[in-house]
Amino acid sequence: RITYVNGDYLPEAEAKVSIFDRGFLMADGVYEVTTVVGGKLIDFAGHMARLRRSLGELRMDAPTSEDDLLAIHRELVRRNALEEGLIYLQVTRGAADRDFAFPPAGTKPSLVLFTQAGPVLERESVRRGIKVATVPDLRWARRDIKTVQLLAPSLAKMEAKAKGADDAWMVGEDGFVTEGSSNNAYIVAGGKVVTRHLSNAILHGITRASVVRLAAETGMNVEERPFTVAEAKAADEAFITSASAFVTPVVSIDGVALGDGSPGPIAKRMREVYVAESLARAI
Ligand code: PMP
Repeated sequence: RITYVNGDYLPEAEAKVSIFDRGFLMADGVYEVTTVVGGKLIDFAGHMARLRRSLGELRMDAPTSEDDLLAIHRELVRRNALEEGLIYLQVTRGAADRDFAFPPAGTKPSLVLFTQAGPVLERESVRRGIKVATVPDLRWARRDIKTVQLLAPSLAKMEAKAKGADDAWMVGEDGFVTEGSSNNAYIVAGGKVVTRHLSNAILHGITRASVVRLAAETGMNVEERPFTVAEAKAADEAFITSASAFVTPVVSIDGVALGDGSPGPIAKRMREVYVAESLARAI
């Protein structure tokens, strides 16, 4: 695999960053994951807009221009002959003496990217639907910033797996679902698609933005508001969205089957509409 590290394309064995990098020491970094299908990037502009916002919220310098970032993504697709999979991009505040205060102006941000090949369009999880288990949301209060602090969602996913589920839906102290460990959460009840509104409590998913828009464009009723675990368990169907999962049906919550326990019609329809539209826009 060929990776990108601060200006160089390197085989993965040579891809290294400093032990003083603030991403390593303090999780002082942000990331994006862009999906590749047919060698093309899905919603690249959306990912770049969110990256810009994450950097701005953390007062971190952009490592390079968005044109350069596009060129790097395309070069990695070419060098790795990547047909289907993802490109991971991470920016950190760079390497400096360990200090809670930001390093001196002029410290260079670190920029690393790598690819991961794997099926995106055809997945067993989509055919079967996934089981989710609810777990407490232990994350910080700025979940809208896509930082590399992923320990809480990693623990959440492990807890869900220990309960026999495929993924976690994280729940706030108020009993309302925030989102999945690495995806946005939706329920469908009485013909309405319900997903939590945008705020600092959840990541503003790029896939979520497309799905909410497409649902409205195809005449579906969308309510952006919080929903409880009890409401979710009583729903007709549910699904998740993310750059890599696209739209993936959820068939049970904490062991309670939704509908007949198989992927629901609205989830399936949303996936078809999303895949068609996002592939048509891929660059
Ligand atoms: N929420 C969280 C917590 C995530 O980590 C992700 C994946 N980045 C998402 C939602 C989905 O966002 P996107 O559609 O941009 O991949």
